[in-house]
Amino acid sequence: MNVDTPLALAWVRAIAAAVEQEQGRLTELDSAIGDGDHGSNLRRGFTAVLTALDGPDAPAPAGAGAVLTRTGTTLISKVGGASGPLYGKAFRAIGAALPQPGEAPAGPAAFGEALAAGLRAVRDLGRAEPGDKTIVDAWTPALDAYRAAVTAGAGLPEAAGAAAGAAERGALDTVPLQARKGRASYLGPRSVGHQDPGATSTALLFRALADVTRAGAARGPGD
Ligand code: ADP
Ligand code: MG
Repeated sequence: MNVDTPLALAWVRAIAAAVEQEQGRLTELDSAIGDGDHGSNLRRGFTAVLTALDGPDAPAPAGAGAVLTRTGTTLISKVGGASGPLYGKAFRAIGAALPQPGEAPAGPAAFGEALAAGLRAVRDLGRAEPGDKTIVDAWTPALDAYRAAVTAGAGLPEAAGAAAGAAERGALDTVPLQARKGRASYLGPRSVGHQDPGATSTALLFRALADVTRAGAARGPGD
């Protein structure tokens, strides 16, 4: 299985649906250690992304890279919170790392490198280390699990499934951490004992990838 335009579109639409469904929980988590807007920030962003991709005036994207680049650009322009620029830059980096139109779409290994570029973009902008209780704490184990699965011969659905599980564990593992970046860091030790909202939304993003690649494998000619 490759990351072609339909798969990229399916992934972004699945993220938008997950954000819609989980926005209450994301906001609840952000109310405990932030300002309670993470769910509404992402909802506003991904609603705009759907319009940018599927709206009546949306030009057809020229490849999977263009889908993800447009997703990132839209998030940057529509989301004011810390997560908008961070996820925006991440999606733009994923899009830029994918093959250009006319080239063969990315397979599992190349897509892993695009996911790595996404994490680098988050870290370049946010300067968070693993353990700082941020997006990085879900994305890092997700990428490690994805790469390990591909190295062991897994196709995209299996690698994405491993990544989703690792991201979800990574998000849970933020509970005992003290936040050292972002708004939650203002709380100091009082940020301990709460799950990080951004790590939680990153897990949604990887779970959406696992879901759409599994559905694609069930439909398509295998990977
Ligand atoms: P804001 O904090 O501006 O209200 P959001 O509520 O949308 O923005 O997003 C908060 C999430 O952003 C946090 O839970 C954290 O995971 C993530 N975050 C904040 N700062 C950073 C950073 N420097 N690097 C990575 N992730 C960060
Ligand atoms: Mg917030």
